Amino acid sequence: MRALVTGGAGFIGSHLVDRLVSRGDSVVVADNLSSGVLDFIQAHIDSGNVEFHNIDLKNLEHLIPLMDDIDIVYHLAANPDIRLGTRITNTDLNEGTIATYNVLESMRINNVNKIAFASSSVVYGENAPMPTPENHGPCIPISLYGASKQGSEGLIGAFVGTFGLQAWVFRFANIIGERGTHGVIFDFIHKLKADPNRLEVLGNGLQEKSYMEVGDCVDAMLHVVENTNEPMNLYNLGSNDTCSVRNIAAIVIRETGCKSAQIEYTGGDRGWAGDIPKAMLDIKRLQGLGFEVNYDSEDAVAYTARVLIKEIMG
Ligand code: NAD
Repeated sequence: MRALVTGGAGFIGSHLVDRLVSRGDSVVVADNLSSGVLDFIQAHIDSGNVEFHNIDLKNLEHLIPLMDDIDIVYHLAANPDIRLGTRITNTDLNEGTIATYNVLESMRINNVNKIAFASSSVVYGENAPMPTPENHGPCIPISLYGASKQGSEGLIGAFVGTFGLQAWVFRFANIIGERGTHGVIFDFIHKLKADPNRLEVLGNGLQEKSYMEVGDCVDAMLHVVENTNEPMNLYNLGSNDTCSVRNIAAIVIRETGCKSAQIEYTGGDRGWAGDIPKAMLDIKRLQGLGFEVNYDSEDAVAYTARVLIKEIMG
């Protein structure tokens, strides 16, 4: 199997690359290193197991030659920072929706038939029932990032319906773990490193979401791709419970040993405009394929805090 992983030098992408290499797939990575880290996959490049291309998906002509002989595309590249859309309004359109169109178009030109896509729980928008099943609708995202994921899903559906592609669309919960480069745990550790006596928490801390450990996430992706065969396969990937931001702050303070840290809440029910304060995915469809996660949300948070503290604080 020869796989192309877009965003393969990123947090989730590099874990997926680890799994693909270890099962013997031939792997090509396309990444512009805007938020990716080459070191995450350098050992695979050095051993000849990964072919790396520093390209920008916004350039269709750079993508077309990479599709030669590819069996499946795992499309993970995107802007990972949901908050950025509150300041710069075209990033998600360009790095998300347009980039996805270019991936699909270069697949069509090269007769590459299979795509697995990293979408997000934020496509469900606000006020969806919790836990949210895949058939919830209408989906009305409230962030530009969410809109770009929904636009990408729409384009994927259109290429499936019009050109006979086969797709796996994964709506991820919050994915956390080793090599994390963004997100609430990463932010808290950096804040405590800068000032061990004070921890600013965005919102009132009552935000409550599901967290999935990154190894569980990439294992679930590969399990679903191997065990489903519809033209369009849509799966929520998450854990079975939630963890509040207050609880995450307590865990990070405990794990860093910064016991004197005073928590300061910025207030309001959410961290930023477009944030969805409460989210939990229904994962029965995933479980129906015989997949169970290794970590629940709180265990995933505690584990991630420990590994990121080592990575960030030394
Ligand atoms: P990440 O930032 O670590 O990975 C994204 C990768 O894409 C990076 O390596 C970056 O350099 C690359 N990239 C971005 N724009 C590019 C472009 N125009 N051309 C080429 N490469 C480009 O983020 P991640 O957390 O690993 O996220 C991976 C995917 O999963 C993203 O699509 C993200 O939206 C999605 N997702 C992540 C989470 C999460 O909690 N981490 C949740 C839901 C969905």
